[in-house]
Amino acid sequence: MYIAVVGTGYVGLVTGVSLAEVGHRVVCIDIDAAKVKKMSKGISPIYEPSLDELMKKNLTANRLSFTTDHQEAFKESEVIYIAVGTPENEDGSANLGFVERVAIDIAKHVRKDAIVVTKSTVPVGTNDTIKQVIRTNLVRDVKVEIVSNPEFLREGSAIHDSFHGDRIVIGAESERAADIIEEINRPFGIPVYKTDIRSAEMIKYASNAFLATKISFINEISNICERVGANVEDVAIGMGLDHRIGNQFLNAGIGYGGSCFPKDTKALIQIAGNVDYDFELLKGVVNVNKHQQQLLLNKLKERVGSIEGKRIAVLGLAFKPNTDDMREAASIRVTEELVNNGAFVVAYDPVAMEKARQVLVPQVAFANSASEAIKNSDAVLILTEWDEIKELDPELFETMAYPLVIDGRNCFDLELMRKYRLEYHSVGRPAVR
Ligand code: NAD
Repeated sequence: MYIAVVGTGYVGLVTGVSLAEVGHRVVCIDIDAAKVKKMSKGISPIYEPSLDELMKKNLTANRLSFTTDHQEAFKESEVIYIAVGTPENEDGSANLGFVERVAIDIAKHVRKDAIVVTKSTVPVGTNDTIKQVIRTNLVRDVKVEIVSNPEFLREGSAIHDSFHGDRIVIGAESERAADIIEEINRPFGIPVYKTDIRSAEMIKYASNAFLATKISFINEISNICERVGANVEDVAIGMGLDHRIGNQFLNAGIGYGGSCFPKDTKALIQIAGNVDYDFELLKGVVNVNKHQQQLLLNKLKERVGSIEGKRIAVLGLAFKPNTDDMREAASIRVTEELVNNGAFVVAYDPVAMEKARQVLVPQVAFANSASEAIKNSDAVLILTEWDEIKELDPELFETMAYPLVIDGRNCFDLELMRKYRLEYHSVGRPAVR
């Protein structure tokens, strides 16, 4: 099968590399020429464990190539994946401009009968629009079918998820198209669930909304735990033992971020609103998340009063561990508010520093290590639970002017922290003083 993947972000690049790894001939297309040049040399533009190795391996095996030329890429393609971004519009709805642009390019350049597979997360009904755009702009007499194949990979373990995901959802208008996409994915050995296109589109939003709900739910429980003297970690373990609840996604913290949950929850509220349905529960989930991000700053202000002139170390900048993705990372708002309140902010992240420099307020200083950031600070805020941060020796905190640690990700064991001369506040657990 000749496969083209349009868009080489977290989803497109991982999809292209994984399909090549199982033996398909894959050409990846992106409009970003600098990125394409880098990828052609086997250098990944994103940090994702195992991605570089697999890229290099499949480039060398001639199963994988990169280009900026849609016309050239679509010449032989029988299957074309759309994996471009669907960012948030100002009103919370999904911006479909990139997807529609690709649909027009496909219509102009496709030369063979082809199946267009939408991997991008798109509102229910969008694949009908894609089909219409392609069919009305088609230049040649070829047959194009549309399949919805939403992506469920998690940044930070994207390659692992491509090979060991829980399910592959295929929404198609014809059995033939569904069967071909199933066949392409057969080498992954992941259970396939086939349905109609609109249900497939909805599965993606409903799944992300449900996961976001779990996070906001446990965060609310954690806020109550703090007030009644319970420990949210024990509560989550006790809840998770019930198989109907499950033990995943019950980690209390400062809320969800990243490129998916924030925009997908808001988009689903819009999708519901467009059909006159008020998705009250999901609105609550979004609101809780907004407050939760403020939590750390409130705790800091409660403890130190004014933060003006204080040196604050911020550990962990990426929206979650094992990625350098800074989209909707809590660190963006937290550091901005610290700076606005007159603090001197010293930040550190094991991997995301380069991307962080581009998005954090310019007053933020960057340290070369966690210990450099911590030393002589008046307080440490922990925003991302990187292993490197979880494994820090708590003795390091004793090098601070006053050892105050406010941990938004519950990185440290309470018993351990009690052994040191420090003050430790986490989420939904008793404070250590
Ligand atoms: P991204 O923003 O990282 O990458 C998009 C890429 O598409 C960019 O490299 C951009 O240059 C390229 N592009 C834009 N227009 C193009 C065009 N006309 N032709 C070729 N390339 C073009 O996006 P992402 O994070 O990979 O997400 C892609 C989609 O997948 C989104 O809809 C997202 O919601 C969804 N999704 C993302 C994740 C995730 O973890 N990032 C997980 C599941 C689903």
